[in-house]
Order: sequence, then C-alpha cells, then structure tokens
Amino acid sequence: KVDSLNKEIADIRSRYAQIEPSKINSFTDFPLSKRTLEGLRIAKFASPTDIQRESIGLALKGNDVLGAAKTGSGKTLAFLIPVLECLFREKWSHMDGLGALIISPTRELAYQTFEVLKRVGNRHDFSAGLVIGGKHLREETARLNRTNIVICTPGRLLQHMDETFNFTADSLQILVLDEADRILDMGFAQSMNAIIENLPSERQTLLFSATQTKSIKDLARLSLNNPVYVSVHENA
Ligand code: ADP
Ligand code: MG
Repeated sequence: KVDSLNKEIADIRSRYAQIEPSKINSFTDFPLSKRTLEGLRIAKFASPTDIQRESIGLALKGNDVLGAAKTGSGKTLAFLIPVLECLFREKWSHMDGLGALIISPTRELAYQTFEVLKRVGNRHDFSAGLVIGGKHLREETARLNRTNIVICTPGRLLQHMDETFNFTADSLQILVLDEADRILDMGFAQSMNAIIENLPSERQTLLFSATQTKSIKDLARLSLNNPVYVSVHENA
C-alpha cells in the first residue's frame, strides 16, 4: 500500500513539467491523485473553467500564484485542488496537524468553501474544519492545531494568534487568501499583515481575488514569494 502510494506520487510529480493549459480539456488531463479525480467526478466537475485551467498547473508545480478572475469564475476549485494535492504529495495524515490554511472574508464564504471541500476532498482522509468563531476560543484552538485543512476568517484567526499561547502553524505547507479584495474591503489589511507575520515563511501561498487593485498588489508583495500572475478576463 505504501509502495503504490509512493509510486502514484512519483508518477504525478513526473508529469508536472508537461502541464500545458491549452491542452487541458478535462480535469483528468491534469496529473492529479486518484482521490482528487474521484472527488471531482462524484461532485460532477468534469472540465475546468478558465481560471482553473490557467492556475492549477502553476500551483501544482509549487509556485505562489496571484489569481484574478471575476466572481463566479470558479476560483474555489482553483485553490482547493492544489491544496488537496499538496497535502497528498506530503502524505499528510491526522497526526501531522495543520497543513493548509484558507482565509476567507466572511463566515458565510468560509462555510461555502468548506462545503465544496467536503465534496471534492471526500476520498482523501485529511481532517478539515471551520474556525470562524461562535465557539469557545480555547476549544477552537485545540481544533485549529490538529485539523489538517482549516478554513477561517481573518478576525477570528488573529484572535487565536493573539490570545492563545499554544497556537502554532509551524508545519503549515500552504496558505490561501480567498476573495482577497473583499478581505481588504472589510478593513482587514492590518490583520492580514499581522497574520502573515505569524506564519512560517517556508510555505506556498495562493491569493485569489475578483479584482486587481493597488491594495491587492500590496498584500501580494507581503504574502507571496515570486508570484506568478494569472488574470482571466471574460473573453480571454
Ligand atoms: P468564484 O469564487 O470565482 O466566485 P466559485 O468557485 O464560487 O467562483 O464557483 C462559481 C460556481 O461555478 C459554483 O456554483 C461552482 O460550483 C461552479 N463551478 C466551479 N468550477 C466549475 C467547473 N469546473 N465545472 C462546472 N462548474 C463549476
Ligand atoms: Mg470565491
């Protein structure tokens, strides 16, 4: 079992270099784990949208990505697929704790992302959870530390960082800033700076936004390392 997993991971990695967005018609054209492909099939996602086609390969290869595409263009899967594949490649397990952190502007959006993750990630055995408040802080911190994929809101995450001594994100592999323009519109620029300073610098970061403003570029400069810019317009 371990051998076949190692073989699958090696096979997937060996195909990354050949990813060409223009040749991708179906999700099965990407080198993805059987588990992710099965999750996509069950959730009835067959072919990628433009932003997914352009950005997933770059993220799989380990690049930091700044992705801009309008609302409704499919940005959620553009980061959830790389998140699942990142932890799969690392053979992440329940014992490894927090591996992926997804920051979402509102509880409602965090919840929606969680619902998509539950469907598409169904065949993986990572633990996943929401950290959006509404529970005792200390209870939530315990969950934050041991959950593999956490979807959170910036205010609540910062509260954990500020008020609980035992929160650590030391093993974090991948950070996602989703709907980053909305995060900034809601006045979380300072919180984001503080959060990013508290995270390990050896990580991959994916930033998605519907718009590309000056403040998004400032946030990108702070959070991304040598990012690849992917911008998809309606008629591109
Ligand atoms: P965004 O974050 O860019 O606003 P979402 O990720 O919320 O967009 O996706 C918008 C809608 O498109 C959702 O209903 C989602 O289920 C659907 N969708 C996303 N990707 C695909 C796909 N590859 N095939 C079919 N529908 C998709
Ligand atoms: Mg979205």
